[in-house]
Amino acid sequence: MGRAARLIVLGSGTVVPSATRDTSCYLVDDGAGTAFLIDLGPGALQRAARAGYDLDRLGAVLLTHVHPDHCIDLATLHFALRNPLPRREQGPLAVFGHPLTAGVVERLKAVWPRWLEVGDDRLVLHPVLPGPVPVPGGTRVEAFPIEHTESSLGYRLTLPNGFQVAFSGDATEGGGLVDLGRDSDLLVLEAAVSDEWPVEGHLTPRRAGRVAAQCGTGHLLLTHFYPPVEAVPIADQAREAFEGPVTLAQDGMVVPLTRGD
Ligand SMILES: [Zn+2]
Ligand SMILES: [Zn+2]
Repeated sequence: MGRAARLIVLGSGTVVPSATRDTSCYLVDDGAGTAFLIDLGPGALQRAARAGYDLDRLGAVLLTHVHPDHCIDLATLHFALRNPLPRREQGPLAVFGHPLTAGVVERLKAVWPRWLEVGDDRLVLHPVLPGPVPVPGGTRVEAFPIEHTESSLGYRLTLPNGFQVAFSGDATEGGGLVDLGRDSDLLVLEAAVSDEWPVEGHLTPRRAGRVAAQCGTGHLLLTHFYPPVEAVPIADQAREAFEGPVTLAQDGMVVPLTRGD
C-alpha cells in the first residue's frame, strides 16, 4: 500500500543558518515501497522522521558530495543504526556516494572510536561512479559527474510509474549536468547565488534557467538558496531562458511525482 509517488523538500537552504530553510535534504517516495533520502545535511534524519520516514522506512540514501551541509548526518546515521531500536526489517540501509565518502566515514569513526561502528547487517556504504546505481526496489537510478567538487554526483531517478526526477546537488555548468536533466519530468537544480554575489562552483538563477532550457526538462525546481539570492527575482530570472514551469523550493513542500494528474 504505497503512497503516491512524491518529493518532499526537507531542506532548501545552505550551510548558512536560516529561520526558514534547513540544510540540504530531499525525500523521494517512489510510490512503490521505496523511500530515498538525497543528502544528509545536519538534522536531515530528524526532519525525515517528522515527515513520516524514520530509519525503519528508508530504502536508500544518495549523497551528492561530501561538503558538510550535505553529509554531516552520516555521523548521526551511523550512531543511530548502532542502536538496536531502528528495526530495519527491510535489511541494511544502503548508502550511496562517491568513493571519497568512505574516507569521510572512516575519519568520523576515528573521532568517535567504537560509537559509529555499524554491522553490515544494518548499513552498507556503496561507492558510486557515474553510471547505474544498484538501489533496492523498482526505481532505476543513474549517477552523473557534476562540476562542484571532485566528489560531486547528480542523480536521476526513473520511478516505477515512469516519472523521471533529477537532482543536481551543488553544481555549476559542465560535466554531466545537461545529461542529468535531459528530458526529465522534474529537475531539482541549485540556484545558490546571485549575479551580484557570485560564488565559484554555484549557479545563479539566470544560469540555472539556461541549463534547464538546454536539458529540456518539463519542470524546474530551484533550490539551495544562500540569503543574498533571495533578494533577486529568482523565478523571473530563470524564466529569461527557460519557458517551462519554474518553482522555488520551500521546506516542507510536497511535489507529486506523477505525469498528468
Ligand atoms: Zn557543496
Ligand atoms: Zn551546498
